Amino acid sequence: MTIAAETFDFIVTGAGSAGCPVAARLSESGKYRVLLLEAGPDDRYWWIHVPIGYSRLFANPRVNWMFESEPEPELEGRTMYQPRGKVLGGTSSINGMVYMRGNPADYDLWRQRGCAGWDWDSVMPYFRKAEDQERGADPAHGVGGPLRVSDQAIRWELGDRFIEAALEAGLPANNDFNDGEQEGAGPFQNTTDRRRRWSTATAYLGPARRRPNLGIRTNAHATRIRFEEGPNGVRRASGLEFLCDGVPHVARASGEIVVCGGVYGSPQLLLLSGLGPASHLQELGLPVVRDMPAVGAELQDHFYVRLAFRCTQPITLNDIANSPVRKLVAGAQYLLFGKGPLTSNGICAGGFARSDPRLERPDIQLNFSVWSFADRNRAGVAPHPFPGFTISAVHLRPDARGTVRLKSPDPLAAPSIRFNFLRTQYDLEALTAGMRLARTITTQPALAPYVAEEILPGARVVSDADFEATIRRNGISNLHPVGTCRMGADPEAVCDPRLRVNGIEGLRVVDASVMPSVPAGNTNAPTIMIAEKASDMILDDARAG
Ligand SMILES: Cc1cc2nc3c(=O)[nH]c(=O)nc-3n(C[C@H](O)[C@H](O)[C@H](O)COP(=O)(O)OP(=O)(O)OC[C@H]3O[C@@H](n4cnc5c(N)ncnc54)[C@H](O)[C@@H]3O)c2cc1C
Repeated sequence: MTIAAETFDFIVTGAGSAGCPVAARLSESGKYRVLLLEAGPDDRYWWIHVPIGYSRLFANPRVNWMFESEPEPELEGRTMYQPRGKVLGGTSSINGMVYMRGNPADYDLWRQRGCAGWDWDSVMPYFRKAEDQERGADPAHGVGGPLRVSDQAIRWELGDRFIEAALEAGLPANNDFNDGEQEGAGPFQNTTDRRRRWSTATAYLGPARRRPNLGIRTNAHATRIRFEEGPNGVRRASGLEFLCDGVPHVARASGEIVVCGGVYGSPQLLLLSGLGPASHLQELGLPVVRDMPAVGAELQDHFYVRLAFRCTQPITLNDIANSPVRKLVAGAQYLLFGKGPLTSNGICAGGFARSDPRLERPDIQLNFSVWSFADRNRAGVAPHPFPGFTISAVHLRPDARGTVRLKSPDPLAAPSIRFNFLRTQYDLEALTAGMRLARTITTQPALAPYVAEEILPGARVVSDADFEATIRRNGISNLHPVGTCRMGADPEAVCDPRLRVNGIEGLRVVDASVMPSVPAGNTNAPTIMIAEKASDMILDDARAG
């Protein structure tokens, strides 16, 4: 399929967690011509598909935008490294593969804020539709969908001990965090088929790639949406300008343009196209198509601090990574039998808890990893040179709200990202409670024998003031940003609850940026759910129109 100046029924820009499902669903019937554009390359890089390869993608410019936030005033002026997938599959090709939906109350809150059709009961069918659950179908889980969800192929002794210890510390057992009941401790499931990562490119484009009515263009960077004035005086998104291997192109859309560029890419493209806060656009000399203050506003993310422990036994991923012989054995195990540590993302268990017993639902997630590291930033992730494990305490409902803005009218320039983490006392107190809980778990009989020493933040951190200082020094983004093109029933929202951009025809945003608030859990599965639901809405509207 050629592109230049061609007309498509739908143009989908950004082939990430949302873009791949949207393009696949819109092209499924064969009735519509669909163009899918992705700024990054294809997903043939080997380490994308091997679960342990996660750490090799974390700061790899070959598949990663590698953004950096502005200095955070409450975090000693530190910047937050922001990896984002720049490759087919988007961030689902580089993420940690934890399969988590969040809490039912998160979605009920979306409905209460005016997003009709987005409550838990209404979104559940779309989680199920996407899913191919290894444990089988039940009222909460689906089978036969494109997205493989599995337990880890490898059983980690430390993961089992962590779960036992969490129960000893008072958390209830929870074998399924995704059936509506979140609280407790248990094993995590992954978006893998046990052996390979199941990105949305694998899940949705695998079967769709051969369709003659779907064009997929990689290394194609969308730079501006073109508008025409309709007979009713309303602006209509009529075409998309993009650079393909650096060469300018335009494609026309007779139906809709669906922006799936993610929490940074989507507001950036809208701003470059003249949709955003008028004053900001004028400062940059960009023409204002529509004054939309909410574009790039309401950035929210989970925030976390990790506790790292030296382990008494050489049974962690550090020990494999630090031994050439064990690495060789693990590699052979994977290549010959599809088994062993390479099938694991290392994050094998965890839990959900309330930072304060008066809360109705968990606001803390604990992630247990069978490895540890001194730092995790744009230089990458290197394991400690000794056995180690990590418990991350994640605050799931931070009050902080930030922004995404343009630094320059150059469409290839990175955007300016500002989180404003630690906005309130609650942000600090919740995380302090989460860290204390993580430490308490390590002192329980099931786990204590494996703890040689708390390395981070260290046993000397005891008082509230110590914890606060640690949080300010070590706390980081949990890489679940949302909200920069939020949907809502109010006219200020970027999109209405059918994800149509307000005041513009033929334009939707479909990705994590439309979430009005961040769900209490990892955000890949919720984004895929949004894409499934949006695809139905787009097709319904196309049939009706
Ligand atoms: C390191 C890391 C680990 C994570 N771990 C987990 C996890 O374990 N479990 C979980 O549930 N979530 C995890 N997440 C979060 C989750 O993966 C994301 O929330 C989700 O993938 C977001 O999907 P999206 O469709 O909104 O954006 P993306 O998947 O990022 O898709 C956006 C796509 O648009 C493309 N694009 C952007 N701008 C343009 C442009 N101008 N032109 C063309 N293409 C463009 C991008 O290259 C990208 O492919 C993690 C995130 C990171 C960064």
